Amino acid sequence: MARALSIAIVGAGMGGLASAAALRRGGIAVTVYEQAAQFTRLGAGIQIGCNAMKVLRELGLEAKLRRQSFYPRSWNNRDWRTGEVKFDMVFGEAAERKFGAPYLLAHRGDLHAALASAVPEECIRLGHRLVGLDQTSDGVRLSFAGGATAVADAVIGADGVHSAVKDILFGASPLNFTGRIAYRTTFPAARLNGHTIDDCTKWWGEDRHIVIYYVKPDRSEVYFVTSQPESDFRIESWSAKGDVRELRKAFEGFDRQVENVLAACPDVHKWALVDRESLDRWTDGNVTLLGDACHPMTPYMAQGAVMAIEDAAVLSRCLDGVDRDGAANAFRRFEASRKDRTTRIQQTSRTNTWLKDKTDTDWVYAYDAWTVPLAA
Ligand SMILES: Cc1cc2nc3c(=O)[nH]c(=O)nc-3n(C[C@H](O)[C@H](O)[C@H](O)COP(=O)(O)OP(=O)(O)OC[C@H]3O[C@@H](n4cnc5c(N)ncnc54)[C@H](O)[C@@H]3O)c2cc1C
Repeated sequence: MARALSIAIVGAGMGGLASAAALRRGGIAVTVYEQAAQFTRLGAGIQIGCNAMKVLRELGLEAKLRRQSFYPRSWNNRDWRTGEVKFDMVFGEAAERKFGAPYLLAHRGDLHAALASAVPEECIRLGHRLVGLDQTSDGVRLSFAGGATAVADAVIGADGVHSAVKDILFGASPLNFTGRIAYRTTFPAARLNGHTIDDCTKWWGEDRHIVIYYVKPDRSEVYFVTSQPESDFRIESWSAKGDVRELRKAFEGFDRQVENVLAACPDVHKWALVDRESLDRWTDGNVTLLGDACHPMTPYMAQGAVMAIEDAAVLSRCLDGVDRDGAANAFRRFEASRKDRTTRIQQTSRTNTWLKDKTDTDWVYAYDAWTVPLAA
């Protein structure tokens, strides 16, 4: 009789946890190995596109996310100085009906915690940094810093933009530094001292922009993320700090809403923006990559985590009913089903033109990872 599949997932980020939840839904035994000793609540916002919400609904997370997140009337796009509206991408109930799910703005920590709540604690091993992988006839052997090992029938590398799994499978290759950096932070809206802001606006400057939105349903917390040129800063990390005075200077002359938000923000993180060309392959035998490990992108469409979440649903469909001998084929099918879409999103995101003018958004938000046809 065919033996049930056991899967090890490397990385308990957005894609790893979504995959664990989706695979368990299909009855597959999963263990997630995460390098961090504990989960930390990163101070960032995240836009959860309608296309991700369709996946999250099937994972049982819709009600929780609606309760914890902000439901914006639109993603507005305005000129940095005149405030002129360039394109107002209206969400709300009409878009929810059209695309089949809401568009939500969340605290990144809330989305991560929601995904973690969909995976039993005993399936997650914290403090496990993968350093080696060896495919043998008995399965894939994983080695971790500190000497621990594990064996699984198949492995999913969901270990993010600096993926060790990618380097082991296909060799190390440098990321593309865009020559631009992002400042970002979340802070209590009470610090705005009564100044009001739009629900969600991208303020388009000549060579820089800032996106500002609420991340809580009661408008109690504000998030912003910028993009601006700075060619010699190369730290790509969630923890690096920036200088809030430099940030304010860089956005002098922007609309009063922007000035008020930057005046109120207590401190900021700073991040070098990177992406990568589409990889030739994501899969090697019984090991595959998913999420930023194989298709990292600039944040300009707010689709990086969304793509990792879509990957999880499609991968779970490819693995449905598959035994250990079928894993390699299922992984190849997953790659073939997903690569065109993620490459198109990587390339579109890089141009930083999304929603700058009237934009066709159907191909992004109407996608349903549970029903889209799979490759042969
Ligand atoms: C400024 C900014 C704003 C963004 N805004 C949005 C947005 O609004 N909407 C959106 O959809 N996306 C957004 N993104 C993109 C999004 O953050 C990423 O695409 C998403 O986190 C990718 O998920 P992932 O699971 O592939 O990787 P990650 O979430 O990075 O998770 C990788 C996990 O693997 C672990 N790991 C790494 N190496 C190892 C190892 N060797 N062993 C074990 N564990 C390991 C890490 O600790 C981490 O937990 C933004 C990105 C940036 C930079």
